[in-house]
Amino acid sequence: METINCPICETKDFKDYISVGDRFNEHEDNQFNIVKCNCGLIFLNPRPTEDEISQYYENADYDPHRNKGNSLIDVLYSLVQQVALRFKHFVIILNHQSGNLLDIGGGKGEFAEFMSLKGFDTTLQDKFSNYNGNIEFYNNLNEIEAKFDIITMWHALEHIHELDKIFEFLNDKLNKNGIFVLAVPNHNAVERKYFKEKWAPYDAPRHLYHFDNNSLTKLLNKHNFKIVRKNALVHDSFYNILLSHKSLDFIKFIKSIIIGLNCFINTFFFGTKKSSTIMVTCKKY
Ligand SMILES: [Zn+2]
Repeated sequence: METINCPICETKDFKDYISVGDRFNEHEDNQFNIVKCNCGLIFLNPRPTEDEISQYYENADYDPHRNKGNSLIDVLYSLVQQVALRFKHFVIILNHQSGNLLDIGGGKGEFAEFMSLKGFDTTLQDKFSNYNGNIEFYNNLNEIEAKFDIITMWHALEHIHELDKIFEFLNDKLNKNGIFVLAVPNHNAVERKYFKEKWAPYDAPRHLYHFDNNSLTKLLNKHNFKIVRKNALVHDSFYNILLSHKSLDFIKFIKSIIIGLNCFINTFFFGTKKSSTIMVTCKKY
């Protein structure tokens, strides 16, 4: 384990915020500490080092690595995923109708393959994936030499130990008029208050940071990126609710619908202030 300073303001000006378990290994003494800094950032501290973290990705149920079956939840999940892919494509073509694209932390390559079919010259990177499809693929970010018009990170930034290094990479590899598009869980998500420490996006110790609108903006500005567009992704609310419940009986099902409606209404009126996921499009200053 390692103890860190706040990655945004670089101070030790933080206080204990909440203690959470690992949702794949719920053992009493398997608790992780999350702190809140004066600057607003909420982050895991202490945290497993980069070498130690891989053991926490090895669980077969870890969602991005799980092979989907034919259960109702899996079928719903893949339907929702198809809609989400189209929405992400729609947001990207507002800026670039073609070009070369790098998807960092892209898991099994669903997004990279979708964008490739849409005519983008696509590269996929993921440290823990064993992708063997047709897209150019790297485990190691440092081996990538090309420059890109579009770099995407879907639910990946919150997993990265060395934020300074990844932003150095982004500044170096993104073309002058390029866009960096990312999505992260929103710590101000409506459904969090129902689940408290059981809220699935705490996902300790894999999620190292818990952003909201303000802390995400601060981090991006610090590293030379300005936000040009924000989108609230509503579908992740339902996914978070199902994951947080773990199992589903009739009562939980009714509760899920009520919480889900509350998320939907709040996201409709307050956008990324309350949505489960914040998606932003950025450009270099
Ligand atoms: Zn701070």
